[in-house]
Amino acid sequence: MTYRDPLHIHPDVYTVFWNNEPAFTLNKRLLDQQNAWGNLTEIIEAHELKLCIYHLLHETKDKALIKSLASDLTEIEFELQELWGFSKDKMFHRFWEYPKCTCPRLDNIDAYPHMRYISISCPLHGDE
Ligand SMILES: [Zn+2]
Repeated sequence: MTYRDPLHIHPDVYTVFWNNEPAFTLNKRLLDQQNAWGNLTEIIEAHELKLCIYHLLHETKDKALIKSLASDLTEIEFELQELWGFSKDKMFHRFWEYPKCTCPRLDNIDAYPHMRYISISCPLHGDE
């Protein structure tokens, strides 16, 4: 990948697209701070894959597939942490944001990143 001066990069360059529509824009300051511009392509690809898995989660009712997609998401979160130059730490995964997750959202937001509240009946993260 060729080097581009972060000061002159158009926001489209660090925007994640889904179905040809902008889904969200990456945090430019964090890209600077983490010196992660060199991994920008991989970071965007990982986010696109994540959105694709979100879509599949919305579509499917297959319990085994849901579990497997949830574990794929965990792998992608670890990959993203590495690409961003953070340590690979499950405590920082915002897993309650996943489609169909029924883990307690507010408890998890309050306790982030010190504690994870898992609902045993969650189709993604539970034991049932
Ligand atoms: Zn869950």
